[in-house]
Amino acid sequence: MPERIYNFSPGPATLPYSVLQEAAKDIVNYKDRGIGLIELSHRSKEFMAVAEEAEQLIRELLAVPDNYKVLFLQGGASSQFFMIPMNLLGEGKKATYLNTGTWSNKAIKEARLFGDIEVAYSSQEQKFNRVPRDDEYTVAPDSEYLYFVSNNTIYGTQFKDMPRADCMLVSDMSSDILSRPIDVSRFGIIFAGAQKNMGPAGVTVVIIREDLLERAPDNLPTMLKYKTHADKGSMFNTPPCFAIYCVGRVMNWLREQGGVEAMQRRNEEKAALLYSAIDATDFYRGHAQKESRSMMNVSFNLPSPELEAKFIAEAAEQGLDGLKGHRSIGGCRASIYNAFPREGVEKLVDFMDRFARENG
Ligand SMILES: *Cc1c(COP(=O)(O)O)cnc(C)c1O
Repeated sequence: MPERIYNFSPGPATLPYSVLQEAAKDIVNYKDRGIGLIELSHRSKEFMAVAEEAEQLIRELLAVPDNYKVLFLQGGASSQFFMIPMNLLGEGKKATYLNTGTWSNKAIKEARLFGDIEVAYSSQEQKFNRVPRDDEYTVAPDSEYLYFVSNNTIYGTQFKDMPRADCMLVSDMSSDILSRPIDVSRFGIIFAGAQKNMGPAGVTVVIIREDLLERAPDNLPTMLKYKTHADKGSMFNTPPCFAIYCVGRVMNWLREQGGVEAMQRRNEEKAALLYSAIDATDFYRGHAQKESRSMMNVSFNLPSPELEAKFIAEAAEQGLDGLKGHRSIGGCRASIYNAFPREGVEKLVDFMDRFARENG
């Protein structure tokens, strides 16, 4: 194994080393067939099996009920911001959104192009440092769905429990899908860009309840209807083959690790280590309020921007890479998704302790 740095990047993010190795070999010579994985026709027996396995593993790991489709789409998680309202809303139809950060803000902007959007909660005034409790919002009557971002990648906040609603839930789980068990049956749609917790950039996984496929208005472009992709097993046109393959290998790795329950335990332990280091001194300040803290993205500040810059630079010299916070809030952020190893968190905690003593 070459010298690997600890990659705290929010996405594209670190992947299991065993998956990278497998992919490196398969790109050149897939299953010793004398042809590279990324040269295979998407309609070949071999690739169809790759896509089928990736789908089955997602179904198994998340216990996806039979009346849901799992789709592999393109256009990033951001394209779901408009595909969802285009398919589910229309003239006179309403949906409720919870505004807990940049990604929900963007989704609200797009949804307003296609329906009547009620924003029932916003933590924008508090720099998105929390998510709401169940008693802090009211889902508008007649809402087709309640939309929320389960983990706010930039601010480091996360819904511990899924929000309460009488209507179905729709969620952007780009940065915490497969980090814990969820009850899929409460959702109409779950989607996630793969590049945080599932694989490389290039594919967006959409889990959609089957009856919703019939809702799309007739005048939608073919490529923007979920039904088009569902009817053709995500092979209406050329899918992002390599990204789908990698997602399958990551899912296989996840199963070997014990599945999402085991992941949740490990993620909780990793996050607890880091938050204890933040809470141990006044030198570090967590951005998120405690009840809203994310297990996936830990955003924090130091006493000054100068110290933050020094911290990030010195950490990088120690092989702790990608700790710069998002430009919208500054500071530092450690992204510790499923594939991020515990030893990297321990190393960061040691570094934080040392840095605080030397600079505090
Ligand atoms: C990264 C991210 C996105 C954007 O994903 P793209 O695939 O780049 O469009 C959307 N939502 C959340 C929660 C994210 O973390």
